[in-house]
Amino acid sequence: MKTKEKNTKENNRRPDRNRTPRKKPQTEFASLGLNPKVLSRLEKLGYEKPSPIQREFIPIALTGRDVTGQAQTGTGKTAAFGLPILEQMDLRLPSLQALILTPTRELSEQVANELERLGPNNLKLAVLVGGRPIRKQIQTLEQGAQIVVGTPGRVIDLLFRKELKLEEIKFVVLDEADRMLDIGFRPDIEKIMKRCPTERQTLLLSATMSDEVERLAKRFMNEPARVDLSEKDVANKSIRQYYISVDPDRKITLLARLLLQERPQQVLVFTRTKRGAEKLHKAFNKKLKNIAMIHGDLPQQKRDRVIKDFRSGKTRMLIATDVVGRGIDISGISHIINYDVPEFCDDYVHRIGRAGRLSSVDTGQAFTFVTREQGSQLTEIEKRINMLLDEYELKDFSSLRPRPPKNY
Ligand code: AMP
Repeated sequence: MKTKEKNTKENNRRPDRNRTPRKKPQTEFASLGLNPKVLSRLEKLGYEKPSPIQREFIPIALTGRDVTGQAQTGTGKTAAFGLPILEQMDLRLPSLQALILTPTRELSEQVANELERLGPNNLKLAVLVGGRPIRKQIQTLEQGAQIVVGTPGRVIDLLFRKELKLEEIKFVVLDEADRMLDIGFRPDIEKIMKRCPTERQTLLLSATMSDEVERLAKRFMNEPARVDLSEKDVANKSIRQYYISVDPDRKITLLARLLLQERPQQVLVFTRTKRGAEKLHKAFNKKLKNIAMIHGDLPQQKRDRVIKDFRSGKTRMLIATDVVGRGIDISGISHIINYDVPEFCDDYVHRIGRAGRLSSVDTGQAFTFVTREQGSQLTEIEKRINMLLDEYELKDFSSLRPRPPKNY
């Protein structure tokens, strides 16, 4: 027989030894800005870490911005566009909020299956594809769908029959845009897009970014950010890359001196950790105007505002951690400073690559602070980008204290 335990302070404090501690879903997905419910669903699905397209695409799409992404089927692209939509849509509303167009029936069904797995149990989905009885699809629409996945032909058909209404659409996805164009869906896409509200987020996925796909993006998207995983060639970027040797305890002074010497128009400073970002923000916040900080622990609204202010130029110095920093797709950044050497070489590529590609200035500059112990990490980065970084010298300032004599 079970005895009822008294709810005393003592009992509350005592750890329950028989229970295995519940693992918090603290995966790399968490740092992309997804909510805990989604994270535990991903954990159940066994998605341990985001695929490269997910890592890049999700943080940007979560800001509500239009995004084009170059990715093939099988790379996890459905979750890349699906998760930000599920995160942003109002799941309590029964209205149709998202429209996903794909070139084939199979792909529509595959996408719908994946969204079903990623979304909550009560998510209402309709698959509208040719070659299947239209009556059943009409019934599904009548019962209310929050997301429609379909092929352009059948979607048009149902639009013209007034069975499908797109007035409340907030998200449109053009999946495998290049294949949709190959199949000759362009006129249908045009007609469908014209019926969607202009206030919406449009996401476009394509294996290739041909001129025709670019034209489609230009016509239906609002200054889309571009996620291009084929981009690896950082060395060819028109960006000057330097390293500066520094003693760990002189890094803040070095940053202050560097800013004084360079007087950057806008600067993005990367730290490895959230705490590091906070510490740096605290150190500069009083001295400098127009400075901000962003990391994964900030609420989404705040992050949106920080990004918006940086994009508009109101903020001149932004301190960011890697994962969030990847979502910062803003033109006009003249200076990137790696206050901490990135933990992974790929992060270096992302940090610099992002700024170089999106920079509206012809050349950007990137500085990496390296302590004596981090020499080998610098070498790894140089191997990765196949280029040696130049050492940067500051006028009348040494970022290194002289070494004590050998026999000291
Ligand atoms: P997709 O490219 O969206 O068609 O996805 C290809 C397959 O990879 C699907 O079966 C997904 O369920 C699976 N998948 C997507 N993202 C992940 C992830 N992060 N980890 C493990 N499996 C994934």
